[in-house]
Amino acid sequence: MNADTMQRWLEQAAASLHEQRDYLTQLDAAIGDADHGTNMDRGFTAVVEKLAATDGPVPPGRVLISAGGTLVSTVGGASGPLWGTALRRAGRALGEAEEFGSEELVSALDAALAGVVELGAAQEGEKTMVDALAPALRTLRESLADGASLATAVQAAFEAGEEGMRATVPLQASKGRASYLGERSIGHQDPGATSTVLILGALARTVSAEK
Ligand code: ADP
Ligand code: MG
Repeated sequence: MNADTMQRWLEQAAASLHEQRDYLTQLDAAIGDADHGTNMDRGFTAVVEKLAATDGPVPPGRVLISAGGTLVSTVGGASGPLWGTALRRAGRALGEAEEFGSEELVSALDAALAGVVELGAAQEGEKTMVDALAPALRTLRESLADGASLATAVQAAFEAGEEGMRATVPLQASKGRASYLGERSIGHQDPGATSTVLILGALARTVSAEK
């Protein structure tokens, strides 16, 4: 993987978030303030525009750091700083290398999750994006340790994220805006876990299209 891989991932994620914008906003209308789709779409559209305007070779880590900065500066909701931090941390973990492999991808996603948890203080089971990201990362690591190819492992990670997303439905939110609803947050799928799955799906498609 290299900078092009990261660029394609972000472009695919942006396309998917744009396509699902209304759905994400509907999910957020049920337990939040109906802006999650527009937040993510605005942020990732800006990320893609910024990438297109960047000339000259940039290492993959820098692509992610720049994307994270764009999200922080363009998204007002909680998801902007959270995803912004995630991408910045992932980018820092990749460092200045031009190319990286599955081990570095795991470290980068590990750093991303750690950044989200540090900023938002949500653990699994609190009905947030962490409920998709954490199981996905666990599965990625386990699949690779079992000898799966990167494409297979990332696909398995995406599926674990989907399962985690669906498992947010019966949970009561204890972090973010949805927590204001208390028990009334039960019975709805978390918007942030849902957009996280779209972003993981984009990664799976990008990685399986490599080589
Ligand atoms: P806001 O809640 O500010 O309107 P968004 O609607 O864009 O922001 O994003 C809401 C999503 O952000 C939630 O569905 C949840 O997944 C995620 N989220 C909110 N607070 C936290 C937190 N403390 N830690 C992790 N994720 C969080
Ligand atoms: Mg919202």
